[in-house]
Order: sequence, then C-alpha cells, then structure tokens
Amino acid sequence: MTETSSPMQPPPPGQPFKWDKLSADDAHEQWHRLRTWVHWWVRTYGVAPSVIGPCWFKHARIVEEVSALERAHEAFFDPAAPGSSPVMWHREMELCTSRLRTHMNNLGCSLASHQAERLVVWPTGRAYLEESTEWFEANVDHREEAAEQAAITAVIGVDDPTGVTK
Ligand SMILES: [Zn+2]
Repeated sequence: MTETSSPMQPPPPGQPFKWDKLSADDAHEQWHRLRTWVHWWVRTYGVAPSVIGPCWFKHARIVEEVSALERAHEAFFDPAAPGSSPVMWHREMELCTSRLRTHMNNLGCSLASHQAERLVVWPTGRAYLEESTEWFEANVDHREEAAEQAAITAVIGVDDPTGVTK
C-alpha cells in the first residue's frame, strides 16, 4: 500500500467487493488478478468472442459480470464449500454467460473491434429533481393516508364503515 491509498483492506479471496470503493492499490491488484482469471476462463471453457471480447475491461457492465463470476468461482471452489458447489458455479456461469452475450450484442463489440459505450445521459437538472421529488412526496403521502385509513378501519371494523357496532 502507498501512503495515498485508503486504509480499507483488500477483499479476501471469494469475498465480494465494489469496484468504485477500491483504493488505487487494491484496484491495481484486482485488475491484474481479474485479467489472469478472465484469460483462464476464456481458455478453459472456450468462451466465444460473442460472450466476452478483448475489450472487456473497457465496459463497466462486463467488468461487473466477470468480476462477480470470478468472486463466485473463488467461493464455490473454496475447500470449505460443499462438494456440490462446483456444479452450482457452472449453473451460475451459464446464466452469466447469457447476460454477457446480451451485453456484447448490445455493445456491438467483436474480437476485432471495440465500440465505445453509448452513454445514456439522464436529465439531472432542476426540472428533473423537482418532478421526481414531487412524485416521491405524493407517493409518501399516499402511503401515510393508506396507513391512517387502515388504522381507522382496524378500530371501527371493516364491515361497518360507520363504526356504529363497535
Ligand atoms: Zn468493446
């Protein structure tokens, strides 16, 4: 660790982590470890370029997927894990592979070319903040009114809205 890195400990093998929370040193370690793992995975399983391409590290969604798969691989193959856990990892791998294929298809990347991410930019200006806040408050008000109505109904009885028989 350098003096500029955070005091946060790197995740032990098998433990999940958040990429955006890693210190520079930990990110350095994780990138290199993940690249080694991705190469092993692609070579071992003959993973097609339609599932993951050589530009995988340029796409956050791909990084998150393969990182999660790698973490799961560590956990499912841990010596303390049940003997059936490797077969469970393979099931997870199949699901992950399907999602990766969708990502790669949406990205338009291939073995020979990389397409820059087409970022979706949301409106985050004043109008958006006001409209969403207004929506949230109306939703909260509705919930409070529903809770009050439920409390009243519990006191006066569901079948007697007049409350006369209570
Ligand atoms: Zn790409």
